Amino acid sequence: MSKLRLAVVGAGPAGIYASDLILKAERDFEVSIDLFDLLPAPYGLVRYGVAPDHPRIKGIIRALYEVLDRGDIRFFGNVKYGTDITLDDLKQHYNAVIFATGAIADANLAIPGVELDGSYGAADFVNWYDAHPDFPREWPLHAKEIAVIGNGNVALDVARMLIKRPDDLLSTDIPDHVYQGLRSSPVTDVHVFGRRGPAQVKFSPLELREALHVEGVQAIVYPEDFQYDEGSQAAIDSNNQVRVMVKTLEELKENPQEHEERRLHLHFFASPVEILGEDGKVVGFKVEKTKLDGTGNVTPTGEFQTFPVQAVYRAVGYFGSALDEIPFDPKAGVIKNSEGRVLDDQGNQIPGVYATGWIKRGPIGLIGHTKADAIETISHVIADRALWWRPEMADEAAIVETLESRNVAFVSWQDWLRIDAKERALGESDGRERIKLFDRPEMLSVSKGE
Ligand SMILES: Cc1cc2nc3c(=O)[nH]c(=O)nc-3n(C[C@H](O)[C@H](O)[C@H](O)COP(=O)(O)OP(=O)(O)OC[C@H]3O[C@@H](n4cnc5c(N)ncnc54)[C@H](O)[C@@H]3O)c2cc1C
Repeated sequence: MSKLRLAVVGAGPAGIYASDLILKAERDFEVSIDLFDLLPAPYGLVRYGVAPDHPRIKGIIRALYEVLDRGDIRFFGNVKYGTDITLDDLKQHYNAVIFATGAIADANLAIPGVELDGSYGAADFVNWYDAHPDFPREWPLHAKEIAVIGNGNVALDVARMLIKRPDDLLSTDIPDHVYQGLRSSPVTDVHVFGRRGPAQVKFSPLELREALHVEGVQAIVYPEDFQYDEGSQAAIDSNNQVRVMVKTLEELKENPQEHEERRLHLHFFASPVEILGEDGKVVGFKVEKTKLDGTGNVTPTGEFQTFPVQAVYRAVGYFGSALDEIPFDPKAGVIKNSEGRVLDDQGNQIPGVYATGWIKRGPIGLIGHTKADAIETISHVIADRALWWRPEMADEAAIVETLESRNVAFVSWQDWLRIDAKERALGESDGRERIKLFDRPEMLSVSKGE
C-alpha cells in the first residue's frame, strides 16, 4: 500500500497537530488527510475556550491557520461524526481514523443546590462569551455577588470575564450581544474558592498575575488562608511555577490593593458544601473550611462559612463526551485507549481507530501539550500499517460525493476563509482585528459567498 488515507475527527489543536505531524513524519508511504469538525469553524477550544482577552493565546490560531492553509489537509467543517458520518463510512473511505474531539461540557459537581436557578457550569458561560454557535445568545447576568468554584485557569478566566469592565473587552472579538450582556451585569464582587491552599492552586503564574491586576478591580486575599505544611514546602521548593504563584499571592497579602467598585476575592481552604436557595434561586454558597494534613492534601475542619451570592459558577473541569460506536471510559471522560490506540471493552486494540488530545488524555493541560499527544498517537498509526482498514472507496472524491448525496452542507477551507474574511471585515469597521460570527445559518451562508 503506498498511501494512507487518514480521517481526523476534530479540528482543534490536537487534530491539526496530529495531521501536520504525520505529514512531516518519517515514513515510506504517502498520506492524504481529511479533517472533520462539527463546527463550521476550525481551531476547537482555541476559538471557543480561550478567553477573548487573551490575544497572545488566540494568536496560536495563526500557526494553526498556516498548517491548514498549506493545502495538504482537506478541511470539512459542519460535519458531525455520529450524525453526518459514521464509523462505517470512515471504514469505507479511509485506512484509519484519529478522534480528536476534545471536551465541551462541564464535569459534574455533586453538591446540593446545583440545580438551582443561578447555578451555572463554567463551560456554558465560556460557550456564551466565546460565541459558540450551538449555545444560547442570552446569558443571565443579574447577580451582584458571585461565587466561582475551582482553582484552575478556567475558574480565573470565568472570574475575570465576570468582573472585568465590559468596555475593556471592546478591543476583542466578542460580538455585540456578549458585550451588551456583560454591560448589563450589576456585579460588584466575585469570590473564587479553592479546596486547598496557595501552594496547591492549579493556576498558571501568568493567569494568576493577570487576574490580580484587572483594571478597576481590587483583588483581595485573606491572611488566615495562608498555610503551608511539609507537602506545600516540598512543592514550593521543587516547582518553579508553585514558587512564583505563592510569591505573587504572598505579595498581595502583604500589600492590599486600593479599594475599587469591583472586587475579586480569592478564598483558599474552602471546600464546597451547598448552594443555598430560596424560591428555586441561588441566595448563598456554603463552604467547609479545610486544613492541611502534612502532605499538601486537606481534611475538613467542621467549621462552615456562608457567603451571600446570587450566582454560582462551577469551574471544576471539563469532561469529554462519548462518540457513537467508540468505547468510552465514563469515569475519566475519555475514549478507552493505550497511548492513543483505541481499545475495546476487553482491552484489545481496535484496528484503524486512534485518539489524541483531550479526548485521549482528559481535559487537562495547555494547547502545547496536545502536540506531545499527537506525536505519540501518530507514531502508532504509522507503526500499525499492517492493521489499517482496506477501504472500498479510498478515492478522494468519494467522501465528497457521499457527503453531497446526504445533503451535508460541509464547509471547505475556502468556505471557511470567507467566514474568516467576513469576521475581519466586521472587526475592521470597528477598529478591531475581528468580530466573531455566531449564528450557524449565517456562517453557512457567508461560507458560500451568499
Ligand atoms: C475555558 C478554557 C480556556 C483555555 N485557555 C487556555 C489558554 O489560555 N492557554 C492554553 O494553552 N490552553 C487553554 N485551554 C486548553 C486548550 O483549549 C486545550 O488544551 C486544547 O484546546 C485541547 O485540544 P483538543 O484539540 O484536544 O480539543 P478541542 O480544542 O476541544 O477540539 C476538539 C474539536 O473537535 C470537534 N468535535 C467534537 N465532537 C465532534 C464530532 N462528533 N464530530 C466532529 N467534530 C467534533 C469540536 O467541535 C472541536 O473543534 C483552555 C481550555 C478551556 C476549556
